[in-house]
Amino acid sequence: MSRVFVSKSGIRTVERNASLERYAQRFRELRRGLEQIEYFCKGTVLKRMMKCGKARCACASDPTKRHGPYFELTYKANGKTVNVKLSPEAAPLYKAAAQQYRKLKTLLNRLDKLSKNILRHQAKLAESKREN
Ligand SMILES: [Zn+2]
Repeated sequence: MSRVFVSKSGIRTVERNASLERYAQRFRELRRGLEQIEYFCKGTVLKRMMKCGKARCACASDPTKRHGPYFELTYKANGKTVNVKLSPEAAPLYKAAAQQYRKLKTLLNRLDKLSKNILRHQAKLAESKREN
C-alpha cells in the first residue's frame, strides 16, 4: 500500500523509493552473476608462429613454414607488458580464464555504475529528511 503525500517533497520521496527499489533489484541480479564467475586471469592469450632465425630454414622465406604455434599470456602489470609462455595444454585453460576476467570486469563496471546511482538516491533521501 502506498501512502498519500501532500507535499511535493513527499511525492519525490515516493518516486525515489520506487526507483531505489528497482535499482536494488537490478543490483541483486547482477551480483548473482558474480557467483557464476569461474577462475579468471587478467590478460590475453596470443598464438604465434615464429621464425627460428636460421637463414637456411624454410621459415626464413615462407611465412606458412614458420614454427609453432607458440602460446603466450600477455598482460599489463604496473604499466609494463608481461609475457608468459604457455604450453599448448595450458593455452585453452588461460584463454577461458581470460574470458572470465573480461566477464568479471564488465560485471564490476555495471555494478559500480548502479551502486553510484543507488548512493546518489540514498544521499538525496537522507538530505530530504534534513530539509524537513
Ligand atoms: Zn625455422
